[in-house]
Amino acid sequence: MMGFNKEQNIIGIRVLNDNVIWLWKNKKSAVVIDPALSQPVIEYLKVNNLNLEAILQTHHHSDHIGGTRELIKEWPNAKVIASEKEKDRIPFQNLSVKDNDKLQLLNEEVQVIEVIGHTRSHIAFYCNKKVPFLFIGDTLFSAGCGRVFEGTYKQMYKSIIRIRDLPKNTLIYCAHEYTKSNLLWALDLEPENQNLKKKLNEVEKKLSLNELTIPFLLDEEMKINLFLRAQNLEEFTFLRANKDSWV
Ligand SMILES: [Zn+2]
Repeated sequence: MMGFNKEQNIIGIRVLNDNVIWLWKNKKSAVVIDPALSQPVIEYLKVNNLNLEAILQTHHHSDHIGGTRELIKEWPNAKVIASEKEKDRIPFQNLSVKDNDKLQLLNEEVQVIEVIGHTRSHIAFYCNKKVPFLFIGDTLFSAGCGRVFEGTYKQMYKSIIRIRDLPKNTLIYCAHEYTKSNLLWALDLEPENQNLKKKLNEVEKKLSLNELTIPFLLDEEMKINLFLRAQNLEEFTFLRANKDSWV
């Protein structure tokens, strides 16, 4: 399944159950974010005659780094960019970064933002253009947020606030298509919430057409994402624990 964003030349390749690999490209080169698998990426790049400039790794989970080994066999000059704290768990990194580092990718400036919580060293990649965009990995999803596996709720809440404070026209590219089930959970908590109902309708329509429901706009997400709307750490913690036990 492919989604295509004309303005920013970012396409999504849906793989495994619900992962989305993002490919950001210009006429000659591409940057791939969290390649769960290599094959669909290799095919796309070859068919479109694109050089792989870099692989961005938001965190170490295998459904984010699984394709990297094969990709760098095909494109040995590709930069593999990952957190300097993850030299052991993200094995092929050759450019190690930390919070607030600035990178030049596809002739654009990209900022590293550390967003701890899902893992102890999760990072995101932010490009502040006219329409800013953010590759957020597993920290925030449409209508949801990532599970807190290694960090604390406090760290995750801080990460969510950091995202919330970005420009409201930021387009957010997350790594999983979880929107529908997140909305069903939110509607269990707030059954009368009209914004959630409207969003669920839109999402069901897109899914029935085999389209991705992501990326999402921060401004619109502020209306429907209970985690982004949480007023304090206690509320955030309640929501995250509630979601963890929701089936
Ligand atoms: Zn993950």
